[in-house]
Amino acid sequence: MAARFISHDNLELLLERLRMYGNLHGPVRGDDGVVRFTALSPGTPPDLSAVRSLLPPKKYLLHPRETILTYTADAGYQLPSEENSPLILFGLHPCDLAGIQYLDRLFLGDDPDLLYTARRAALTLIGISCTPDDFCSCHRFATPLEAVSDLFLASVDGGYVVTSSSPRGYELLKGVQELLEEREIESPEDSRRFFGQAVSGPAFSELDATLPEWQELANHCLGCGACSLCCPTCACFDVLECGGLDGDSAVRVRRWDNCLFKSHAQVAGGMNFRKDRAERFRYRYRHKYRGFGPLRGFPACVGCGRCRVACPAGLDLRPLAERLEGAHHEQ
Ligand code: SF4
Ligand code: SF4
Repeated sequence: MAARFISHDNLELLLERLRMYGNLHGPVRGDDGVVRFTALSPGTPPDLSAVRSLLPPKKYLLHPRETILTYTADAGYQLPSEENSPLILFGLHPCDLAGIQYLDRLFLGDDPDLLYTARRAALTLIGISCTPDDFCSCHRFATPLEAVSDLFLASVDGGYVVTSSSPRGYELLKGVQELLEEREIESPEDSRRFFGQAVSGPAFSELDATLPEWQELANHCLGCGACSLCCPTCACFDVLECGGLDGDSAVRVRRWDNCLFKSHAQVAGGMNFRKDRAERFRYRYRHKYRGFGPLRGFPACVGCGRCRVACPAGLDLRPLAERLEGAHHEQ
């Protein structure tokens, strides 16, 4: 097929050109060996061999802790306003793109979140194909989410096939066309192919609370919450009302929360409707592999493998998922 091709040699020039369109960020390996999405300033190349960053790109859309409302006696309640300069995320793997699509469904739906909407509008997504490692499960559990991006670079011999999937991507492509060649190339292996399958009815059913696996997982879990912090689709937050000492001002803050924390399901009066860790595991499992609420049928696991890498207890939900979801798929 005829395709637009960019050679590895031209990649640095591509990054240089992209910086003209906004702040350019991508995966960079620090001196500590940790891969983070951060600024790709000149002289800071992206680490395109890294399978995953420690934190997913959700940190750009949902800040770990942020003010969502302010109050003063004079001005009353005010929504925060922030300047969002154009931001280009380069080097997103299909799982992270699918993770952003999941967050879009949560935060751009019928009642859109204003902060998320503004940040998302400023974001350009440039995906790149990758090779899964043993921690990944993108190729084992289907999700109906797709790896949607503005531009996508699919790895082929000597470089990448570049495709645009949005008007913004098309404009970018036009702006860098002298770096591209028209080439006859066999269809590149498309790592986005893992996505796009719907979950059928039986998968919506409740999970058997008597399965011994919930307690076995709970017995080993330390309750540290690392698995949720690093998950591209975990978006639970807590809301705090923080009054000022002057008695005339206050801020409403939201901060990342975690369904494996005991406090997650605690409500006023001390009532906790998921007080056992085993119940919390079942809840997490249900969210990740079956979806719930308005996103029923949208398993939230995009298979990035971060939770398995991050878990200090080495816990892995895949064997259970293979058994339960495999059984469902056979029905
Ligand atoms: S559950 Fe684990 S593997 Fe799945 S998306 Fe979240 S962090 Fe990635
Ligand atoms: S990372 Fe592991 S130990 Fe920590 S809360 Fe998650 S499952 Fe439990």
